[in-house]
Amino acid sequence: MIRLPNVLFATFSLLAWGQTPKPIAQPLRLRVMVDPGHGGDDGGAKGPRGLKEKVAALEIAKAVGLKLQAAGFEAVFTRDDDTFIPLWDRAQAANAQGADLFISLHLNAARAKAARGSEVFFLSLGKGDDEDVVAVENAGAGVAPGSPDSVVASILDDLAQKAFLQDSERLAVAIQGQLNRLAGIKERGVKQAPFIVLRGAAMPAVLVEVAFISNPKEEEKLKDAAFRAKVAEALTLGVRRYFAETNGTVRRRMVGGPG
Ligand SMILES: [Zn+2]
Repeated sequence: MIRLPNVLFATFSLLAWGQTPKPIAQPLRLRVMVDPGHGGDDGGAKGPRGLKEKVAALEIAKAVGLKLQAAGFEAVFTRDDDTFIPLWDRAQAANAQGADLFISLHLNAARAKAARGSEVFFLSLGKGDDEDVVAVENAGAGVAPGSPDSVVASILDDLAQKAFLQDSERLAVAIQGQLNRLAGIKERGVKQAPFIVLRGAAMPAVLVEVAFISNPKEEEKLKDAAFRAKVAEALTLGVRRYFAETNGTVRRRMVGGPG
């Protein structure tokens, strides 16, 4: 034990006197990686009036970041401008930053113009629930399918997310529950699908299809900042509920990020 001279104690006491006591160490804030889908040359889906998924996803991500921060979380982003980022790199960025959660934001598209509502996905190691959506969202992988790099990466990445599937499902259910409350958003339920962007995440990870950009009414809503703020509020409530129901997760520290 180190003995400090009494004069030092006296000085500290004087400094502390009359001030608000401060905690010795600030508790670590939970960090959420927010991933706006697509970007750059990869515009994603397009609405009937021309709204691009990459633009709407970035706007929603910014709103989500603000709400998360207001709720006491730290928000980090895979992109905060119109940049293309390969799918594999997005989860790796979350791992490298030690994120506690990974939330990828997208807009759905369907041939049926009437299709509407939110869908929240977590990773399926098999075929999953919705092959059309998967084909569209996996198009921006940035690695040629079948190349040796992609095979090795996919095996390692599957191992990374595999340990978190239960937590990812809980997170998906919590977020879907809040999105269902949004007026005008139909319940579509939680789904499982083999999204590449989720595979490498060494933390609970979900992909949210916020609304159907292919539906003219939902495309208009997505252009409205008030609607985006409501979506962000719902997502943030889902995150809060998830952490309230679980103790969060510390298992990611065992899996580790890239070397
Ligand atoms: Zn997308």
